[in-house]
Amino acid sequence: MDTSWMANGKCAEKNPSLFFPNDGVGVIRAQRICKGCPVKEGCLEYALRNRIDHGVWGGCSERERRRILKKRRAASLVVEAATEVPESA
Ligand code: SF4
Repeated sequence: MDTSWMANGKCAEKNPSLFFPNDGVGVIRAQRICKGCPVKEGCLEYALRNRIDHGVWGGCSERERRRILKKRRAASLVVEAATEVPESA
């Protein structure tokens, strides 16, 4: 997966530890940096596709990303069920 977008992130010249906070205040601090980041969508998608559990990516906390993945799984199950070809009797 292409990671060249990382060089354009607002975090590129920040201390990486800011994006791996230990508490909610740290998460909010990181999310403020992510706000308005030109590569925010790509960053979030990268974290989701690679199942990155830790840190703030694309402006989303670990918990927020878990929720997104859960919703995507549910949506894909609905699509799968809707497109299943019924067995002929
Ligand atoms: S969205 Fe946040 S973590 Fe991702 S590249 Fe931008 S500033 Fe960095």
